[in-house]
Amino acid sequence: MSRLVVIGGDAAGMSGASQARRLNPDLEIIVFERTTWVSYAACGIPYYVGEDVKELRQLQARTPEQFARMNIDVRLRHEVMAIDTSTKTVAVRQLDDGSDAEFAYDLLLYATGARPILPPIEGLDLDGVFQVRTLDDAAAVRSAIGRSPASAVVIGGGYIGLEAAESFHNLGIPVTVLEIAPTVLSRTMDPEMGELVAEQVRERGISVHTDMRVDRIVGQDGRVSAVEAAGSVFPADIVVLGLGSAPNSALAKSSGIAIGPTGAVAVDDHQRTSAEDVYAAGDCTESINRISGAPINLQLGTVANKQGRVAGTNLGGGDASFPGVLATAITKVDDIEISRTGLTLAEADAAGFDAAATGLRSSTGSHYWPRSSQMRIRTVVDRKTGKLLGAQIVGGPGAAKRIDTFAAAMWAGLTAAELEYVDLAYSPPFSGVWEPVNIAARKAAGATE
Ligand SMILES: Cc1cc2nc3c(=O)[nH]c(=O)nc-3n(C[C@H](O)[C@H](O)[C@H](O)COP(=O)(O)OP(=O)(O)OC[C@H]3O[C@@H](n4cnc5c(N)ncnc54)[C@H](O)[C@@H]3O)c2cc1C
Repeated sequence: MSRLVVIGGDAAGMSGASQARRLNPDLEIIVFERTTWVSYAACGIPYYVGEDVKELRQLQARTPEQFARMNIDVRLRHEVMAIDTSTKTVAVRQLDDGSDAEFAYDLLLYATGARPILPPIEGLDLDGVFQVRTLDDAAAVRSAIGRSPASAVVIGGGYIGLEAAESFHNLGIPVTVLEIAPTVLSRTMDPEMGELVAEQVRERGISVHTDMRVDRIVGQDGRVSAVEAAGSVFPADIVVLGLGSAPNSALAKSSGIAIGPTGAVAVDDHQRTSAEDVYAAGDCTESINRISGAPINLQLGTVANKQGRVAGTNLGGGDASFPGVLATAITKVDDIEISRTGLTLAEADAAGFDAAATGLRSSTGSHYWPRSSQMRIRTVVDRKTGKLLGAQIVGGPGAAKRIDTFAAAMWAGLTAAELEYVDLAYSPPFSGVWEPVNIAARKAAGATE
């Protein structure tokens, strides 16, 4: 009997293990996961912190017992310390008793995810300073909230930082976001849209400071009390770090598995790494950006699940390929919806396109519909070919999921002019008779040669 070893028991690893099991009932499957959790939704952490989700276990899709019923052997608190691709073995440490053992594999799925980036800021080790990456982090933040903090600071205005800020705000805890870049969401949205988000977030009562380099986190008796940034002091009983994350590729690298230009594990379209019978999927790997053609390390649950399924299909004896990504993402802060797909204008310029961006102010329903809300759409278009390169949306309820229409159009390689006449649905509560996506496409087409 062949043995599949999976390193990492979350989205990519467990999608891969489950899919391999579906295709091959005879495969022995062992999953090593170093935490006490398996198959959990990190995406739900902000909503658990904000108490929309009551119980931590609700964020777990399947338990080890459920996987056992699928004949998948999940071993928690087991960390893979080394991979020997020549002998096809992994060295595994049992973290509770410190014992080490070696396991042979016929097939290996590397699905180690990502780790938070922690710049050398003084005070990161103080009590009350948290990351929001794992369910244990989530539990720790909730328990700190139970001590009735007077104020919170979130360092980093990316989507995870903003979602964390929303959680505190919803609980009535005054919260300040400190962002080093000139706008929030600076890595995913054009500055115009990032500024719009910051402005609207401030209007909801969340304090947002951009161009703020954090100097240090200060405390009293080992507990955080404030964050110092750019000469100002921001009092804080809780600090959440949302400083981005890097792929967990060190173990692969030390085993001689090829790492791509992004620092993540390089894979082909079948999720195969450079080592024989070793596959990789999820936050630790690269994908190909379908618009630029360049490798990208895209850390999203959507991608991790799909790549895991592709890897699992191939590991289970089938044949599947991963078609690449557009980097489509969505979030919300209070009633502000935010989404993006494809390239920002800066990314399109950097990728060598002769790109133009156009903007549209519109509303989510007909102008006379009482519950319509405002919406801004920005599109990025290739001036030469007329093809859509990217889109970003900021608006009220009903706005952001429109990004999926842009994503589908870009996936199919439509020009802006073609999207203008795609037959999209209309009724007053949902859009104007000209759906804003059609109008945004028309404007984008007008910017082409
Ligand atoms: C707060 C937050 C909110 C998010 N919201 C969204 C969202 O709204 N939409 C979206 O698409 N994505 C979201 N994401 C991203 C999404 O959660 C990740 O893309 C997804 O979890 C990646 O899955 P993965 O299996 O590749 O990696 P991970 O979830 O990181 O899992 C990797 C696992 O490998 C284990 N591991 C690592 N090294 C070893 C080792 N050597 N031995 C044993 N085990 C090991 C880790 O403990 C971990 O459990 C969010 C992430 C966070 C943190």
